[in-house]
Amino acid sequence: MKNMSFETKCVHGAYKAESGQPQVLPIVQNTTYRYYSSADVAELFDLESPNFMYTRLGSPTVNALEEKMALLEGGSAAIATSSGQAATLITICNLCKAGDHVISAANIYGGTHNLLGVSLKKLGIDVTFVDQELPLEEIIACARPETKAIFGESIGNPALSIIDFDKFSKAAKTIGVPFIVDNTLASPALCRPIEHGADIVIHSTTKYADGHASCVGGMVIESGTFDWAASGKFPGMVEPDESYHGLKFYEKFASVAFTLRLRAVMLRDFGCTMAPMNAYLTHQGLQTLHLRMEKHSQNGLALAEFLSQHEMVEWVLYPGLKGDKYYDLAQKYLPDGASGVLCFGVKGGKEAGEKFLSNLKLTSIVVHVGDIRTSVLHPASTTHRQLSEPEQIAAGIRPELIRVSVGLESIKDIIADFDQALKSVK
Ligand SMILES: *Cc1c(COP(=O)(O)O)cnc(C)c1O
Repeated sequence: MKNMSFETKCVHGAYKAESGQPQVLPIVQNTTYRYYSSADVAELFDLESPNFMYTRLGSPTVNALEEKMALLEGGSAAIATSSGQAATLITICNLCKAGDHVISAANIYGGTHNLLGVSLKKLGIDVTFVDQELPLEEIIACARPETKAIFGESIGNPALSIIDFDKFSKAAKTIGVPFIVDNTLASPALCRPIEHGADIVIHSTTKYADGHASCVGGMVIESGTFDWAASGKFPGMVEPDESYHGLKFYEKFASVAFTLRLRAVMLRDFGCTMAPMNAYLTHQGLQTLHLRMEKHSQNGLALAEFLSQHEMVEWVLYPGLKGDKYYDLAQKYLPDGASGVLCFGVKGGKEAGEKFLSNLKLTSIVVHVGDIRTSVLHPASTTHRQLSEPEQIAAGIRPELIRVSVGLESIKDIIADFDQALKSVK
């Protein structure tokens, strides 16, 4: 069926049972594929055949998940990875070599901040973190001749900033580099970055895509519209590749060239493949993404409104809440809901916050977001503890900040749990 609406794509996209076949996407659990002539295998190695050869490079269950994510994000192709971190790693490595440079919004996930600012720096890829509220000209002014990408998160985790897509995509166009958006917290149900000028979309599928806290995974989706030849900055995409005896990725694969190179070079060499079982579980989750994100957003807004009125609460951050710094950008880019993650500070600072956490009964303390179960975390002492306090504050994390991932329980029960735990802090 052509022109399926988003909900229908979630339910039916990418896998269709033919007559007599399993109704649910099957798990193909194996490492390799049999052929009857070496010539057939040679074709695979020359990237002349779409068939499978070895699970590190692709397999049917993983492939169906990739197609579904590409469909949901409106991209030309996608590649699944072993984790969200691996998705960012291979995306940057597909664009950059030692000596190159990336501009990143400062309000990003702590793990990505470490990956870009510490580990990739050690490999010779330099990163400039910018305050994402800077005017367009100042962001463009951070560019150098060796700048290869601009990176940001649609909803910053856990700063809950909303990226100004127009501004960042303009900056990327001016510099002639792709605009990469980590869309983990919004999910394609609430925001589709490619519609707002992103060239590459990244997910930690561990979060809302899976949605049930059952497996770690990542995804890279390309828009298919970036001109890899025009800027002259991406020889790896345009010039002959010596590891594929002279193949030119962009010339041969056009709108899916970035994904093809991720698979043929990055998965081949780095091996950060998603396992078929995880692809199956993530696909199970995606089938209800539209419903879950609607409910996560409703519960998120209701809890944010409740907390903002509570006498024991100092402040609340939720981009869907009227009066929030990012309310207008959220209305513009996330009109169907602002997702299920919110942050707040308990009156009494860090100590009161810790007491609040230990008094929760229904709500779990976990290092996770996007689960069907309501969960909380204190980032300053956990996910962001590797950053200095000034770096934490630059990434949007105050010492008393508590991050909440609102689940799909009854909002009455969630509010009752928060209320009793807040009252017990007094
Ligand atoms: C969790 C997360 C990641 C990292 O993903 P993993 O699957 O844990 O490797 C990246 N970006 C954001 C926004 C995240 O929330």
